[in-house]
Amino acid sequence: MGNEPRSEPRFIVIGAGMSGILSAIKLKQAGFGDFAVYEKGDRVGGTWRENTYPGLSCDVPSHLYSYSFDLNPDWSHRFSPGPEIEAYFEDVARRYGVDSRMQFGKEVTRAAFEDGRWQLRMADGSTDVGDVVIAATGVLHHPSIPDFEGLDRFEGAAFHSARWDHDVSLAGKRVGIVGTGSTAIQIVGGIVDEVAELSLFQRTPQWVMPQDNPAYSEAEKTEFREHPETLAKLRSDIALLFTEGFSNAVVDADSPQLQAIHDACVANLEDSVKDPELREKLRPDYRAACKRLIISGEFYGAIQRPNATVVTEGIERIEKSGVRTRDGKLHELDVLVLATGFRVDRFMRPMEVIGRNGRTLEDEWREAPSAYLAISIPDFPNLFMLNGPNGPVGNFSLIDVAELQLAYILQLVELVRSGSCSEVSASRTATDRFDADRKQAAKKTIWSSGCKSWYLDANGVPMAWPWTFDRFRQEMSKPRLADFELL
Ligand code: NAP
Repeated sequence: MGNEPRSEPRFIVIGAGMSGILSAIKLKQAGFGDFAVYEKGDRVGGTWRENTYPGLSCDVPSHLYSYSFDLNPDWSHRFSPGPEIEAYFEDVARRYGVDSRMQFGKEVTRAAFEDGRWQLRMADGSTDVGDVVIAATGVLHHPSIPDFEGLDRFEGAAFHSARWDHDVSLAGKRVGIVGTGSTAIQIVGGIVDEVAELSLFQRTPQWVMPQDNPAYSEAEKTEFREHPETLAKLRSDIALLFTEGFSNAVVDADSPQLQAIHDACVANLEDSVKDPELREKLRPDYRAACKRLIISGEFYGAIQRPNATVVTEGIERIEKSGVRTRDGKLHELDVLVLATGFRVDRFMRPMEVIGRNGRTLEDEWREAPSAYLAISIPDFPNLFMLNGPNGPVGNFSLIDVAELQLAYILQLVELVRSGSCSEVSASRTATDRFDADRKQAAKKTIWSSGCKSWYLDANGVPMAWPWTFDRFRQEMSKPRLADFELL
């Protein structure tokens, strides 16, 4: 305590996706002029840059999946397609003048807290030093590739959904998709009319919430443009519906809202899938929203096209001409898409992160990734995460989550700027207490109700924020300084 004011702490933001762009804008607006944004890709956009698969869209309504300070009157649809979302982020970065502050092709490989500052090293050998690091590195980022025997011997084209190979034409081809997550479901709708045969390799069926996706008319867009208050009200109406109907429901497995979601999914299956055999193949044996809920008005229609098949036999191995299932059948394919999800326990890793006294992130997260209020890790001072572990990743629009987190982080950084301290990190006691509380609360969530999903850590404990979104908003409004170690 009692340090010299650091009028100009230097910030390093890692990542130029949704939350990295947000960080740059908010730092600039808060008068923190000394910052760099390092991005390993060649442009902004994060998940929207990396995912380019056919059918890509965001199943959070577009007017909610927008920065609160930059509502977009021009969204084409209630759930707009991926390229439109990517263009929105590029446009925001440009209009707020932060794109010029971003350095692309710069992968941070090491961040070490030495002599009171963060020393960074990039893959190209360059270095930088900062007082504060904001890890805006994303959650669903590192593809998870199953170790199918023979995958490397497949003679057709094979790629992960987040590494779509656009040089491969799908027209008239026999295409296999492994997985039934949100990604696979969107891809099915996106390609079924183009391909000759589509085989969906399903290990676990999914509940599907029906959803219309109307286009906004030109008259509506004009109204939004000319009356920003209408747009703001639309956003807050959607946010309220989302909070009450979904976010508050998933953290209370006994809630009537969750029952309503389950009933809607059952009715969707019953009403939409005609063939009883296919209907039973597609019927999950767990409760809706236990896994990440699929929201789609297209999937059941698409999977019932004559050229589509659901394969429920497990995958034995991949052979040069296709997928051999455990019943001995060979499913001959030209293209194999692995919509098999992401390694969600990685966060900033594989970056090597070293905190106080040489403590590594690998040591800290040996059991499972965790962070006080999803933001700060004991002994990793002035390192803050956006959408880090234990945040409301499955509950709400991640843009709102990141905005609230960043406002909270800036309040902590203000302590450094004013000289109240030079190092801020969550205390071990507060972090342990938070961890114990969230694990206890997680028992009541739908994610603990008996299914496997990426919400669960290696010990089967849901990683996501287990309380209401209002509670998250409340927690983010002001840091409890007693929970921090301020040096
Ligand atoms: P995911 O939800 O993790 O789904 C992966 C799928 O691959 C699952 O069906 C899984 O089966 C299957 N799988 C994995 N390994 C397998 C193996 N060895 N053999 C057979 N099947 C295997 O991944 P995702 O679909 O990419 O979605 C990840 C998350 O991204 C979503 O939950 C969502 O949060 C986000 N997302 C959002 C949107 C959006 O519109 N907002 C769109 C796409 C994705 P099991 O279920 O049996 O494990």
